[in-house]
Amino acid sequence: MFEFMMTEEQKKIRDEARDLVMNIPREYILDVHSDKIKYPREFLEECGKRNLLGLRAPKEYGGRGLKWEDQIILAEELGVPGMIFSCTAGVTGAVVADALIHAGTNEQKQKYLLPICKGEKFAAECLTEPRGGSDFFGSTTLAKKDGGDFILNGQKRFIVGGEGADLFLVYAKTNPQGNSRESMSVFMVEREMGVKTEYVYGLMGGRGGGTARVTFDNVRVPKENIIGELNGAYDIFNHMMIPERLDSSAMIIGTVRPAIEIATDYTSKRKAFGRTINKFQAVSFKVAEAVIKIDSCRGFLSSVAKAVDSGAEPAYCRRLVSEGKKFTTEQCWDISNLCMQVMGGIGYTDIYPIERILRDLRLSMIWVGTNEIMSLIIQHEWYQNRAHELATGTNKRIVELDCISAFEKDEKIYE
Ligand SMILES: Cc1cc2nc3c(=O)[nH]c(=O)nc-3n(C[C@H](O)[C@H](O)[C@H](O)COP(=O)(O)OP(=O)(O)OC[C@H]3O[C@@H](n4cnc5c(N)ncnc54)[C@H](O)[C@@H]3O)c2cc1C
Repeated sequence: MFEFMMTEEQKKIRDEARDLVMNIPREYILDVHSDKIKYPREFLEECGKRNLLGLRAPKEYGGRGLKWEDQIILAEELGVPGMIFSCTAGVTGAVVADALIHAGTNEQKQKYLLPICKGEKFAAECLTEPRGGSDFFGSTTLAKKDGGDFILNGQKRFIVGGEGADLFLVYAKTNPQGNSRESMSVFMVEREMGVKTEYVYGLMGGRGGGTARVTFDNVRVPKENIIGELNGAYDIFNHMMIPERLDSSAMIIGTVRPAIEIATDYTSKRKAFGRTINKFQAVSFKVAEAVIKIDSCRGFLSSVAKAVDSGAEPAYCRRLVSEGKKFTTEQCWDISNLCMQVMGGIGYTDIYPIERILRDLRLSMIWVGTNEIMSLIIQHEWYQNRAHELATGTNKRIVELDCISAFEKDEKIYE
């Protein structure tokens, strides 16, 4: 969000987040980026102590009762030391917390949301399976009823916090024969119930988040741990796409921001042909392009957050959030490349963190639904919306008819 749009309270959140980021020791950041630290527990504990997890949770459950417009400010700032800092904080404090805020019972909020907000317990979200992430409702993890419990069997892949998290929000089939809207339930599973971490991935970027494959081998989960309704995962999944995509879009704006700052400083000092290279338009125009892109992302995402906060129609929000995710991730990826390009060879080395930022950002076009899936959602909602508009009437001018031969029926052939 732009500073001029922020309230005093929002500026305070930004400054609190900046203060937290300023106080992360350099060695800690390097250890996270090199996977020496597998999961940034100390950082997350500090977020909890500073009441920066679960901003949107009601105050009685340890949150601040704020909105998405506030959360995206926090997510941007926490992305500055690296995408995975904001990601791990967001998964527990914005995404899993949101499932509890949205669909949890009072008992579930007391038991899980409160410690998440305090930074005493950390949560992971388990949707993707080895057999596929995009085809989500084809999931095979099974939860079979056994008295008052469910027995969970299956595995989930690429789970941030798979190593390190204490709680797992797991989607599993409870009605495998039912149609996709009625086949799955969402469970809150505690690690102590028997969740096993089988494999921690070697990643191109986004390291240090404990991204792992987790398995459930006859894990017994009480029915009280179903979040929402039995077989009601469809609604929760649809809802969760909003926090996942809003938060992950905001965090990468923060991740790429330092790349522009570094490129600006470097090109103001580096000389070639007797002048600083920012005097060459081929260089400074690339920086200008990067600035336009980051500002466009900020502007667009603020509007998306406002739409969600306003309680606009869910399908409309889903489209906007998907647009925001695709647009932001592609722009930020371009920005990291532009910044690398103006730095020449040194940008490709670890003398500057541009290469790490670029590696981090590549992931953003793949996770929380690939950008192809974003296009799938956007076109679907857009066509639906237009069909509805045509069916119900519109107060907009029909410009199709404002041309000379508009009524040549023999030319308007569609089949
Ligand atoms: C580092 C990392 C962290 C992650 N964190 C988490 C996490 O915490 N929790 C979690 O649940 N998941 C997580 N994911 C998983 C991520 O969301 C999935 O990888 C992603 O949704 C894609 O699923 P997939 O890898 O199975 O690819 P697939 O679904 O197999 O897709 C492969 C390709 O086919 C394309 N494709 C598939 N179907 C269609 C279609 N209908 N139309 C057009 N193109 C299509 C995709 O766009 C993609 O290009 C993470 C992934 C990574 C790499």
